[in-house]
Amino acid sequence: MDFTTKLDRLAEVAVKVGLGLRPGQELVITAPVEALPLTRLITRHAYQAGASLVTAFYADDDAALARYELGAPEGFDTAPGWLYEGMAKAFQGGAARLAIAGDNPTLLAAQDPEKVSRANRARSKAYQPALQLIVDFHINWSILSYASPAWAKMVFPGLPETEAVAKLWDAIFAASRIDEADPVAAWHAHNARLHARRTFLNDRRYDALHFQGPGTDLTVGLAEDHEWAGGSESARNGIICNPNIPTEEVFTTPHAERVSGRVTSTKPLSYQGTLIEGIAVRFEGGRIVEATSRTGETVLRKVLETDDGAARLGEVALVPHSSPISKSGILFYNTLFDENAASHIALGQAYNKCIRDFETLSEEALTAKGANRSLIHIDWMIGSDEIDVDGISASGAAEPLMRAGEWVI
Ligand code: ZN
Ligand code: ZN
Repeated sequence: MDFTTKLDRLAEVAVKVGLGLRPGQELVITAPVEALPLTRLITRHAYQAGASLVTAFYADDDAALARYELGAPEGFDTAPGWLYEGMAKAFQGGAARLAIAGDNPTLLAAQDPEKVSRANRARSKAYQPALQLIVDFHINWSILSYASPAWAKMVFPGLPETEAVAKLWDAIFAASRIDEADPVAAWHAHNARLHARRTFLNDRRYDALHFQGPGTDLTVGLAEDHEWAGGSESARNGIICNPNIPTEEVFTTPHAERVSGRVTSTKPLSYQGTLIEGIAVRFEGGRIVEATSRTGETVLRKVLETDDGAARLGEVALVPHSSPISKSGILFYNTLFDENAASHIALGQAYNKCIRDFETLSEEALTAKGANRSLIHIDWMIGSDEIDVDGISASGAAEPLMRAGEWVI
């Protein structure tokens, strides 16, 4: 199979599996300029599937850097609220949402962390209403990645650029099941496996999870009426979509006030252009009270200060160490891939979707059940082949869920 065929298959998977796009539906795409070839193929597949209108917005690394080099310092609290308001309007009108990731993970590494933090904060705030419609699944949505040269060179620093890009594409295609005889059918089978796992966990109704391993002794209380999710999701518009391509996780909402103990990251976190490695934090009453990291500590501290919920958890996810992405042995410096190589937690905003009957609950009721609130949602990896996970029932009894990073259920 040649590259163009594989890219076309990825575009087909994005439209049919990722979005489940319906005839007559509008589609809003955001993509880096490097992803133009994939975006065009997706646009074609979307119109073939009956899209009424496909609108793409492109981001450019060079333009982003120009802002830091030349932009007035007082401008860093500005975000295009008018654009995000328009996106929210489109989603309320039934448009589907596709994001293509793959930007240079260290683009902003050399920039003033204060400016980076202000710009991120302004953007997060302005984007919040649109983002809420997405994370609450008012609409069908999906994210997938494009192998940009800057990203590929970071993943394979020893290789010439063209080889690095080709190798990263191979990894993306393999993880996204594009190499299978029938990728769409392979995704249906994969979704069935993930759904079986989430059904098991939902039936057990654990009160907490316990993670144990080197540098980690962490108890994550689960939110009241939490629901495990994983694989394809049914959006509130009735459309079944796969929000992440690829995906290997089952995940739920922790209780914002019932997390305690120590945890150490097992993979570097690439956050808005900075690599944060060797994170070690201690939780008390759900809040991080001590935090260090080997690199990127200034950025980590800024992240934790974003708002009150930024130092609390909004997600806990279980991924076996033997997942295909983990087995590839590649560190992708991209959460969409790395979070599917290991169990993880996320700082910040919880998914309402992971609370039973969330549609009928007020913001206050969701908070009372333990759902965290924040402008951020940042996943970082805490799983490895040295981590054991137990499910703790309401009576305090522990049941083994994972041993040495593998499911034992
Ligand atoms: Zn996750
Ligand atoms: Zn997450």
